[in-house]
Amino acid sequence: MHTTITAALAGNPNSGKTTLFNNLTGSRQHVGNYPGITVEQKEGCRLHHGQGIRFIDLPGTYSLSAYSVEELVARDFIVNEKPDVVINVVDASNLERNLYLSTQFLELGLPLVLALNMMDVAERRGMLIDCAKLESLLGVPVVPIVARSGRGRDELLNALLRVAAENTPPQPLHIGYGADLEEALRDIQPLLAGCDTLHHLYPERWLGVKLLENDSQIIEKVRACSPEDAEKMLLRCEEVALHLQRTLEVYPEAIIADHRYGYIKSLLRQGVVSSSQVVDRLYTSDRIDRVVTHRFLGPVIMALVLFGLYTFTFTFSASMVGWLEQFFILLNRGIDQAMADGPLKSMLMSGVVDGMGGVLGFVPIIMFMFFGIAVLEDSGYLARVAFMMDRIFHFFGLHGSSVMPLIISGGIAGGCAVPGVMATRTLRSPKERMATLLTVPFMNCGAKLPVLTLLIAAFFSSHQAWYMFLATVAAWVVALCAAKLLRLTVLRGESTPFVMELPPYRFPTVKGLLIHTWERTWQYIKKAGTVILGISILLWALMTYPGLPEQRTAAYESQRQQVESQQAGNVDALAATLLEIDAAQATEQLRHSFAGRIGTALEGISRFAGIDWRTNIALVGGFAAKEVIISTLGTAYSLGEVNPEQAGSLSQRLAADPKWNPVSALAVLVFIMFYAPCFVTVICIAKEAGSWKWAFFSMAFNTVFAFILAVLIYQIGSLLYLH
Ligand code: GDP
Ligand code: MG
Repeated sequence: MHTTITAALAGNPNSGKTTLFNNLTGSRQHVGNYPGITVEQKEGCRLHHGQGIRFIDLPGTYSLSAYSVEELVARDFIVNEKPDVVINVVDASNLERNLYLSTQFLELGLPLVLALNMMDVAERRGMLIDCAKLESLLGVPVVPIVARSGRGRDELLNALLRVAAENTPPQPLHIGYGADLEEALRDIQPLLAGCDTLHHLYPERWLGVKLLENDSQIIEKVRACSPEDAEKMLLRCEEVALHLQRTLEVYPEAIIADHRYGYIKSLLRQGVVSSSQVVDRLYTSDRIDRVVTHRFLGPVIMALVLFGLYTFTFTFSASMVGWLEQFFILLNRGIDQAMADGPLKSMLMSGVVDGMGGVLGFVPIIMFMFFGIAVLEDSGYLARVAFMMDRIFHFFGLHGSSVMPLIISGGIAGGCAVPGVMATRTLRSPKERMATLLTVPFMNCGAKLPVLTLLIAAFFSSHQAWYMFLATVAAWVVALCAAKLLRLTVLRGESTPFVMELPPYRFPTVKGLLIHTWERTWQYIKKAGTVILGISILLWALMTYPGLPEQRTAAYESQRQQVESQQAGNVDALAATLLEIDAAQATEQLRHSFAGRIGTALEGISRFAGIDWRTNIALVGGFAAKEVIISTLGTAYSLGEVNPEQAGSLSQRLAADPKWNPVSALAVLVFIMFYAPCFVTVICIAKEAGSWKWAFFSMAFNTVFAFILAVLIYQIGSLLYLH
């Protein structure tokens, strides 16, 4: 028995690595379209002809430079872990573009197998690929496969075992980079020979090319190796870079990329690809894109798609939301009847059921929304949205790569700012990155969604989809304007260019959609059941203690007795009066509690935006996690609630409360959309920005900004609509 072989799956995003990985290892896994979401490593095992093989799914990359985390993760894994075989998954229908990465693996001289995936798509398009020819030209095995159906799997595994059994890795590929760069390389290479530590990891020429590409990681390593030689080499690189700038007005990186593409072009021209059909026919994806990303039609279609998404979500989830609300109301009645009065009962009813119920009640909406988003994501449409937004983004001082972080954070509704903040790592320019980092929390994340939905359902129920759509547009407008503001002031600077490839459209698979939807919904439920439950109970305690002093309780008691003796004859009137007294006591109690005092203290300022002390409690709680706003409102309004027989859902309670009206609801809604990010996001911003300064800045900036907006809305709205 041999020891286990390690095989790393590498390739462009969307080349089908994860699909192949699942097919090989049978493990379930996220199938997504976006760089930046999965930076972690996925592993799985398989036995082939008695040989154990360990597979690693590397993050998708277009290149092996040091520009993004994905690229660094993939490169470092391959170089440091030295897998026995690297399986380069290549989208055969997009061969030229995908081979760009392959040339870089070949330059590293790795034990490589080229898996030509999506052969079905290539065949449908009438592309004929001569694999034997390609194999002989590249000098590594080339195996045609269809990852989705498993076609070619055994051949791939056989090739893998063959390559692993060879002891000598292939000779690194030598691509000529033109007179200027070659000359520089000739000068640099002898100096590199002194670096023993780097020598056994990277081919010499490759290191030289990386220095010319101005690769920060490699520069660090060379410097650590021999500082004087490094300075000489860097000086030489600078010299050639300047020369190229002066003569051709390009950077060495561009020349290097051009020559790699040139190598691929000439490779393919040697009869590797032929087409059984007319050469420049438009493929289905391109045809669709002509319409979908059209200058004028594109944005219209995008708006319709978004609006359709919200209509779909609210239409289909409405009855389920109703059932869940009913369920929690019934549950509370059950507890009310089954248990004796006391703190435990109060905690269960007000802390757990109302708090959790508020959060869990939105599961159907979340589920349908995520399903819709999964369709957009898996089909490839979301990438088109990013593509179209890119044009607009430049104007606002952001970068095309800022689109994904904003979408991940909830640009379509229902994301999370934490992965969004992390996804800004793909941005190279520090200022553009910082501007993106600071505006990402303005998006409507999955936790704000229920709050928005609640307020919309309570006060604007006739046009739910419309208001949701407007909330989305508002989030983008505000984020972009804030970015522009930042880029004109604290983050002033140049903007950098961006090229993006559009993955072809694909029919999403039902299984993929269901897994996607479920994973995200489950994450929401899990969070509700753990973190939110804890905070909800804590807030319940803050809202319950300290209790009213003895004499106040006694005062209410004597009031009751007085009423009972006076109105003994009239049962209905007595019951009504008693309820009023209960309500007055509950309200006084809440005000007396720790949370009530904080809320009341803040009311001094918040009243300018029409926000009362109870809502203040929820907003303070919302800093812990935005879901807490719902659960806290649930608790605050149920503690004041006296008759569980008549208690409706939270949205009914809010709608019936005299303190609330559409104008104040709108002010609160806007405040919630834009005030300080939740504390997990704040911590992430601090980490990503490298200093707490920016994290504090984002808390203060957002809160002040949101408050000004809320005050404006409330004051103007009150003047216009309320008397
Ligand atoms: P990754 O980004 O490289 O991990 O790519 P994925 O595995 O997520 O695949 C991207 C999309 O391509 C998914 O929708 C897959 O279902 C689809 N896909 C993968 N392999 C094939 C294939 O061989 N043929 C076709 N038609 N689609 C494929
Ligand atoms: Mg993947």
